[in-house]
Parts: sequence; C-alpha cells; structure tokens
Amino acid sequence: MPSNAPSSDRPSVGLVVAIDGPSGSGKSSTSRGVASRLGLRYLDTGAMYRAMTWWMLRAGVDVQDPAAVAARADEARIVSGTDPLGPTITVDGVDVGVAIRGEDVTGAVSPVSAVPEVRARLLELQREAIAEATTDGGIVVEGRDIGSVVAPDAPVKAYLSADPAARAARRAAEEGGSDVAATEASLLARDTIDSGRAVSPLVMADGAVHIDTTHYTLDEVIGLVVELVEAVEARA
Ligand code: C5P
Repeated sequence: MPSNAPSSDRPSVGLVVAIDGPSGSGKSSTSRGVASRLGLRYLDTGAMYRAMTWWMLRAGVDVQDPAAVAARADEARIVSGTDPLGPTITVDGVDVGVAIRGEDVTGAVSPVSAVPEVRARLLELQREAIAEATTDGGIVVEGRDIGSVVAPDAPVKAYLSADPAARAARRAAEEGGSDVAATEASLLARDTIDSGRAVSPLVMADGAVHIDTTHYTLDEVIGLVVELVEAVEARA
C-alpha cells in the first residue's frame, strides 16, 4: 500500500480502475491522483512501452522493422514500481524513468508498440502486476488498451480526451516549455499510429465513461473518477 493510503475508505479487494486515452489527455496525473486518494497501486503501461523502446534503441534494433523488433521482444527485463507517489521503471536493473521521456524514445515508441510480440510480452507483465495488486486493495492502470484488452472486466473504466491544443500545451509544459506546435504535431502523429494499428488500437472500451478534460482542472477530473469508483463500491 502507498504510505499515505487512507485506511478508512479502502476499496474492496480486487478493484481495477482502467484509464485510457491519448497523450496529454490528463491520464497520468489523473491516474496517480485517484490511486493516491484511494490507497491503490498505479501502473503506467505507456512507461512500459517506452522502456521496451529504450531497450530496442540501445540494442541497435531498427525500430521501423517490425520483424527485427519482434525477434527481440522477450529480451528486455522490465520492472515497474507501482507506488503512485513515486512510480519507478527499470530495464535490466537500470533506472530509465528519465531516459524514456527523451525525444528519441517518444519518436520511436508508436512503431514499437504496434508490434504484436511486444504487446504480448507487455500484456503478460501488466496482468502479473494487476494480479499482484488486486490482492492488496487494487490498482489504477493507465494506457491505450486497458479497458478493451488488458483488463476488460475492470469494474471502473474511464476514457479521457481533450482538445489537441490543450493536450499539446500540457505536454509542452511537462517537458519544460518545449515548442507547443511541434509537440502537437508529434502527439497527433502518435495518435494516428496508436488508433490505426491492427493489434489493440486506442479505442473507447465498452462500458467506459468518456470524460473530456479540456475545461476541467486536474482536481475536478480526479474527483469525477473517484465518484465513478465510489458508485461501483456502493453497488458492491
Ligand atoms: O502514455 P504514453 O504517451 O507515455 O505512451 C507512449 C506510447 O506507448 C503511446 O503513444 C503508444 O504508442 C504506446 N502505448 C500503447 N498501449 C498502452 C500504453 C501506451 O500502445 N497501453
């Protein structure tokens, strides 16, 4: 359990909260906020795809060649730490938390994520992390295919979106003030690949609640998702 987990409103064992949406929709901040408010673990599956991409680039694999990526998809040893107050990610024991946010990884992550063998490998790790966390209160999992593929039975599913300009402004600010127009072009390019790929494309899952975060503050979005969780808990 995260150290600040409130014990009084601890959700029932087995809770999975699936949060999907494109980059810059507010998924990460919302997911971490919900997890720490409710005393749940937190898994950032985008970080896992980025870690796989970091490993491929470092190994000299041609990331535009799906067969070359597929052939090495089982080699990287990726470990995710699921404390929402300090999530971590290592590859072969190396802390890659900062490196995976670099431009080289961001530019290569969508083609790597479209390779079925990469998805199969990471799906296995994601399901392991979910199984472990659901014996410890539950978990908030964020990504592109959580409600549709990774945890289709999750009792709470949210799909976050926002106007492209708002998404680019948020991402550029997170990246320390990088060029907003270039950031918008980069995230729209990733959206196209992520939504158009054959395996596990970015979609709104059956049963997901759509939240357009454009005109909401982070606290408001966290509050909306917490309400969804409470509604499910109340029915249980
Ligand atoms: O969430 P983030 O922007 O860090 O994700 C990086 C990339 O990882 C996405 O653009 C997408 O290509 C891939 N991804 C995915 N499936 C997920 C999470 C992320 O394909 N569940």
